[in-house]
Amino acid sequence: MSEVVIIGAGPAGLAAALSASAFGARVVVLDAADDVGGQYWRHLPPERPSNHESLLHHGWATFQRMREALAADPNCTVVSSAHVWAIDRGAVHVLVGEADGSDRESRVYRPDALVLATGAFDRTLPVPGWDLPGVFTAGGAQALAKGERVAVGERVVVAGAGPFLLAVAASVVATGASVVGVYEASRATRLVRHWAARPWELAATPAKARELVGYAAVLVRHRIAYVAGHAVTAIEGRDRVESVTVSALDGSWRPIKGSERQLEADAVCLGHGFTPRLELAIAAGCRLSDRRFVEVDAEQRTSVASVFAAGEITGIGGVDLALAEGAIAGHVAAGGGIVDPALRVEVARRRVLRRFARRLARAHVIGENWATWLSDETIVCRCEDVSVADLAAARSATRSSGLRSLKLVSRAGLGPCQGRVCGRTVEALLSARAPEGRLGGASTDRRPIAMPIRLGELARDHEIEAGIPVKGQG
Ligand SMILES: Cc1cc2nc3c(=O)[nH]c(=O)nc-3n(C[C@H](O)[C@H](O)[C@H](O)COP(=O)(O)OP(=O)(O)OC[C@H]3O[C@@H](n4cnc5c(N)ncnc54)[C@H](O)[C@@H]3O)c2cc1C
Repeated sequence: MSEVVIIGAGPAGLAAALSASAFGARVVVLDAADDVGGQYWRHLPPERPSNHESLLHHGWATFQRMREALAADPNCTVVSSAHVWAIDRGAVHVLVGEADGSDRESRVYRPDALVLATGAFDRTLPVPGWDLPGVFTAGGAQALAKGERVAVGERVVVAGAGPFLLAVAASVVATGASVVGVYEASRATRLVRHWAARPWELAATPAKARELVGYAAVLVRHRIAYVAGHAVTAIEGRDRVESVTVSALDGSWRPIKGSERQLEADAVCLGHGFTPRLELAIAAGCRLSDRRFVEVDAEQRTSVASVFAAGEITGIGGVDLALAEGAIAGHVAAGGGIVDPALRVEVARRRVLRRFARRLARAHVIGENWATWLSDETIVCRCEDVSVADLAAARSATRSSGLRSLKLVSRAGLGPCQGRVCGRTVEALLSARAPEGRLGGASTDRRPIAMPIRLGELARDHEIEAGIPVKGQG
């Protein structure tokens, strides 16, 4: 019986686990969160269950079925609070226990096959004033709504790009807050051109259409304006958010002078898409595509033997695509093949959903002139308080255009989040100023230590490597 380790218990990881087990593998699923579900099916903790969970989730019944099947499966072990902090020469290094606990257990897995399903972070472009209390990433606001039922404010502005803004507005309203408006940076002409293209393809994704109609109904019911071609270009307040400036944008996301309008608000949710969570894939040696996702073949194999990838780390496509890719990855990781009848439906679904994902990416692509709404004082790296001017100073203080020296001089991306929030922004701003537009080929996605680890835990991990059999620990 082959052993498959899956990192990530979101939609992709759950589907991979069930399909690997169905093919006969013994499966271990590792996830840093304290329950399964990932970002999409984030929910109240088991000790505070809600009878109304399905109201905040699409596909909640699907999730419940998968969770129950996993729990009843003798070949599957789910390890929650399992922080995979490194992958080194095929060994998966994990710390199990509360992230801030002092007694985490160190484990090392050496599976026959590994499925990476680590999902994405939300991408947020900086705006003057975005470091004020009351500003949330769209994903952060969504996590608070789904995982805690906490409202981020009373009068909330949701802004950025992508259909995820609609999901966030709906969740914020469900927590009892009022949403002042949803401001989508892509212009209406662009949205119509890409969303309405080839309508027969949309008909092939009825679940997506239902989800969108559901969000539209929430906007109508709560009289929330959806305004395309507009962005929050400044956030004002003394000690916290008091108002925002909304501006009309041209097609490149440059604010149009004279269009500014101030709106009262006490919270802002900003989201401009997602960035794949790549550190473990990079540590495992997986090749990335030009668009900086994990490159996979038709069987979801990465460039590294016996390492598979599924879900948002292979491309941003939403829950249904993550489910289809996960099912394929798990089946093949367990020894199956892409032509097996068990995969026929998933392969067809993946084809349709990937087309849908490309449509989304084109409709909501980040405009090249977004940085024109920044001022010199705008903070870019919130952990280390690095401003636009600091980045420019770092560039003139060093003759190197290498990302490493620019990060060391400016400290951008070197704080607690290790560039997860600001990394791509720092790269974009620095490479725009680099004479050759490059940063020595380096990227902020590389984090050899994927999760914080104490020195004592590191020492214990080596003891385990030295003497204790490690295979198949659950
Ligand atoms: C904050 C946030 C909220 C989102 N909310 C929604 C939403 O409400 N609606 C929507 O349509 N889309 C949402 N998305 C997009 C969403 O991520 C996907 O559509 C879907 O969840 C992708 O599934 P996945 O399995 O690829 O990844 P995810 O669901 O992100 O699952 C990845 C899992 O991997 C785990 N993981 C990652 N790294 C490690 C590690 N080193 N060690 C251990 N575990 C690890 C994470 O804890 C996570 O549970 C959200 C995205 C983010 C970032």
